[in-house]
Amino acid sequence: MDKITLTINGKEVEATQGMTVLEAARSAGIYIPTLCYHPDLAPYGGCRLCVVEIEGMRGLPTACTTPAADGMVVHTETPAVNEVRTAVVELLIAEHPLECLTCPQNQRCELQEVAAYLGITEQPLRRTSRIFPLDDSNPFFTIDRNYCILCGRCVRTCQEIACIGAIDMAYRGYDMKVATFGDSKLADSICHSCGECMVRCPVGAIVPRKTTRPEREVKTTCPYCAVGCQMYLGIKNDRIVGVRGDPEGPSNQGRLCVKGRFGIAEFVHHEDRLTTPLIKRNGKFEEASWEEALSLVAEKLKQYNSDEVGVVSSARSTNEANYIAQKFGRAVLGTNNVDHCARL
Ligand code: SF4
Ligand code: SF4
Ligand code: SF4
Repeated sequence: MDKITLTINGKEVEATQGMTVLEAARSAGIYIPTLCYHPDLAPYGGCRLCVVEIEGMRGLPTACTTPAADGMVVHTETPAVNEVRTAVVELLIAEHPLECLTCPQNQRCELQEVAAYLGITEQPLRRTSRIFPLDDSNPFFTIDRNYCILCGRCVRTCQEIACIGAIDMAYRGYDMKVATFGDSKLADSICHSCGECMVRCPVGAIVPRKTTRPEREVKTTCPYCAVGCQMYLGIKNDRIVGVRGDPEGPSNQGRLCVKGRFGIAEFVHHEDRLTTPLIKRNGKFEEASWEEALSLVAEKLKQYNSDEVGVVSSARSTNEANYIAQKFGRAVLGTNNVDHCARL
């Protein structure tokens, strides 16, 4: 990769050809506020918070959409730049509920972060009174458009990451909002409930129904299918209270489907879940130890020759569990009768 050198706020910054000005600045530890930008998504330039001054360039270009070039001289903190940013944030705040203490996104909200960065402590504009009904039709998360800042991250996520296109920006001007086809409830749309939009919403507009904050996290592999998505389970009082995708996961790069994101906690803690082996005695299942159960299975298997037994494994197990199952069939039971539901 070709290296280039820029000067940002008087500091020489080395970047890679192909980076944007924003990426070059961030890689050098220089903060430029953003709201519509997300590293997983294509540059958008919608919120205008990342405007900068670039010597020899007219106006205030957005750093997230401007390619960095060798010899470029960039200023990220001029009075003109901060005037634009402050006006943008003040306009957003004028339409935004100020109930931060009760918002599930409190202290994780990017609007709070940029307002604090710009030193906005007052609400100088007249408050507006848009009122949108809550969409709580989805079983896992809600959409409260009153909190929406129209950054478009959810729409672009659904298009670029989930590849579904369940939502888009609808209507124009003051009536603009995130909507499904026909402006129906999310549950009546083609949404797959993956929650990818939710994790990229910078404010409290798309939030999970359950928002307990974990005390610690445990890294694990999703047990639902052989894609093997890597995830962190959020734990509080020894119970799973949340799941987030691991950005370093080679097969999922932080993404999860509906099962991995929303199907773990209730499943693990459900009272119907079998947590010990059961052995049927006199027509009734009775709890047994693993030792007892495995001995019984081994005894029974010994009564058959290798052509009379087979192993069927599951797409809902991990690659490792499936590998062990076929190994057990071939190497231990001595059979090639190995099958898997995924070949259907
Ligand atoms: S949950 Fe997934 S499919 Fe549904 S709107 Fe969000 S990104 Fe699109
Ligand atoms: S719902 Fe969230 S992510 Fe979507 S446009 Fe509104 S603020 Fe942005
Ligand atoms: S069930 Fe979904 S989250 Fe889990 S491994 Fe498969 S694709 Fe990934």
